[in-house]
Amino acid sequence: MSVKIPETVINCSNFINGRWVKGDAGTLDVISPYNGKKIGEVSLPSQAQIKSAIEAADAAQRAWGATPMKERAQVLFNFRNILMREIDEISHLKASESGKNFAEGRAGLMKGIEVLEYALSLQNIDTGGKLEVSRGVNCEYRRQALGVVANITPFNFPAMVPMWTIPINIALGNAYVWKPSEKTPLTSMKIANALKEAGLPDGLMTVLQGGSDTVNGIIDHPAVKAIGFVGSTKVAKIVYGRATALGKRALCMGGAKNHIVLLPDATPEMAGPGISDSFTGCAGQRCMAASVLLAVGDTEKSISKIIERASSLKLGTDMGALITKAQRDFLVESISRAEALGAKIILDGRKVPAPKGMENGNWLGPTILDHVQPGTEAATVELFGPILSIVRCKDMTEALKIQNSSDYGNACSVFTNSGAMAERVIREAKAGMIGVNVGVPVPREPFSFGGIAASKFGSGDITGEHSLDFWSDIRKITTKWEKQNDNNWMS
Ligand code: NAD
Repeated sequence: MSVKIPETVINCSNFINGRWVKGDAGTLDVISPYNGKKIGEVSLPSQAQIKSAIEAADAAQRAWGATPMKERAQVLFNFRNILMREIDEISHLKASESGKNFAEGRAGLMKGIEVLEYALSLQNIDTGGKLEVSRGVNCEYRRQALGVVANITPFNFPAMVPMWTIPINIALGNAYVWKPSEKTPLTSMKIANALKEAGLPDGLMTVLQGGSDTVNGIIDHPAVKAIGFVGSTKVAKIVYGRATALGKRALCMGGAKNHIVLLPDATPEMAGPGISDSFTGCAGQRCMAASVLLAVGDTEKSISKIIERASSLKLGTDMGALITKAQRDFLVESISRAEALGAKIILDGRKVPAPKGMENGNWLGPTILDHVQPGTEAATVELFGPILSIVRCKDMTEALKIQNSSDYGNACSVFTNSGAMAERVIREAKAGMIGVNVGVPVPREPFSFGGIAASKFGSGDITGEHSLDFWSDIRKITTKWEKQNDNNWMS
């Protein structure tokens, strides 16, 4: 289905204490990657507006944190139903501002809804623990809300990445402050409105627009207790440094350069689509995209299947656009630089025509570079576009050595029919998320999402069961109601 791009400019502002408030610190244009047209205008909050928004969140959280989780979950039930009712409209909007195709827009929201369903299950599974530790003495865990928490999100998943953390925080009893990407702020209106309609009390969802000034104002406010961040490694380090210097907890997910190890015994009918879809999905603009193919020995049958699949994709429908013109220019230049360093272009996305009527969009077709040298830009730098760099390797040891030399550690997959070879990648690859015959090894709920090395700063994961301790405190309670006769060293 083609994406329905808004025909009139959408005005977007800041959601403060349950109302949309025009920001006092100027505006930014929102440009659609599809056609280069202005589709929105977002107003930015002043520091005074940020302060008052967080104060309202802090005040609202006190009652919310004291509400039983089963009651909080009722809002999430309603939220889910509203999102499902609005799913097509939201998917068109997020695709229009981020460059995704319609199916990707929808899939991202569905993944967010899966996190919401996990958050709903917390009322039944996250029951703490209690044990009589000595006669008449009980120890107990109780999970406790933190207060106000903030999350800063990237352009490439305008709904899914915020939905990684919104439902879990609402279930846990926190007030949530969201700073969307300034490139894709429009989707935040749909999400915040859905929460309001679902019955979330005012102040518990705050949306503050803008860039680094807004982020700094949020981090520095004393009421903000935890900062989640998803974006590039460069900014993840800045945000992590600022938050932790203030003694706050921070969990900052960074960029990636993901490898796929392709072995000669892989099934070409699995490897072809699996690897092609991994590097072309979302036009390569996702932190789980395949970027380097470590081709071990004779893998020609699988590589020809990758080329067959990737070259069949139509721009505008099968594959979306790049976020900005500057990003397209960077990718085109990086293809030329790789070529100058000896890479062979076996699929050239620069030659793929823009969809009719969308010539001003930011288009680049799937591109495959063969014989890329390890250590060069195409093999090591996060390009964030539909480019696959093939590095030829003589054996698994060489492939793993190259993979391990990456600064990043988000995902690594292997395509093989050998359990022993797959196990070697599972054990030895430097990555938080591993795939076996899976091109995009995103864990599904309740399994958590998170990389290692320069792909994550902080401990825990951003979703699922390993995120809960980051977004809450665990209170440990020891209770005795009766006088004891025995002489116990603890009580
Ligand atoms: P980005 O780092 O440019 O921006 C992310 C957020 O940080 C935005 O909200 C932006 O407004 C804000 N920001 C930018 N500069 C800032 C500064 N100096 N101080 C404080 N905040 C600042 O990332 P992007 O271009 O929007 O997204 C693409 C990147 O995100 C890629 O590197 C991709 O790999 C990464 N990403 C990572 C994951 C993950 O889970 N590891 C998931 C999605 C995207």
